Amino acid sequence: MIKAVFLDRDGTLIYEKPGVYLSRPEQVRLYKSTKPALELLSKCGFKLFIVSNQSGIGRGYFTAKEVNAVHEHLRRLLRPARVEDIVFCPHAPDEHCTCRKPQPKLGLDLIKKYHIDVAQSYMIGDKKADVEFGQALGCKTVLVTTANGKNHLKKYPHLRPNKVATNLLNAAKFIVKSTEK
Ligand SMILES: [Mg+2]
Ligand SMILES: [Zn+2]
Repeated sequence: MIKAVFLDRDGTLIYEKPGVYLSRPEQVRLYKSTKPALELLSKCGFKLFIVSNQSGIGRGYFTAKEVNAVHEHLRRLLRPARVEDIVFCPHAPDEHCTCRKPQPKLGLDLIKKYHIDVAQSYMIGDKKADVEFGQALGCKTVLVTTANGKNHLKKYPHLRPNKVATNLLNAAKFIVKSTEK
């Protein structure tokens, strides 16, 4: 069994502009703390997975092929940190699919495929849906207050992540510290 960190993409690993659906590799900009955070988690023995809602596909703004090109570029930018797998929901909300976060399907598939021990695993994201996704899987959750995080924390006071962190590096530090206990 392996321990994993599931990561949201937009607003967690890379900058998210409100109202902008990122579809081209050259639009990808990592947060300053992204690479150090991923290196820290890898060093601590966590395998990394990106789980993303890409409703821009279902809305007809871009194709799955374009999303895959963005992900190839993202993997290059993240080196030497290594992401095991990147999975995404391509549906628009009104398609009522079973794979859009907070629904746990994408995570459950990864858990099965990679023999992930959820009790030792974490989900990091900037939205309510990310926290609820992690909780549905039985992981611990960290809400980063980048992008939508601050807003969602205020808007959904019932939301109970295990930790609120100001950026991805602080989220990673929290995870490493909790592991040491
Ligand atoms: Mg996000
Ligand atoms: Zn879906």
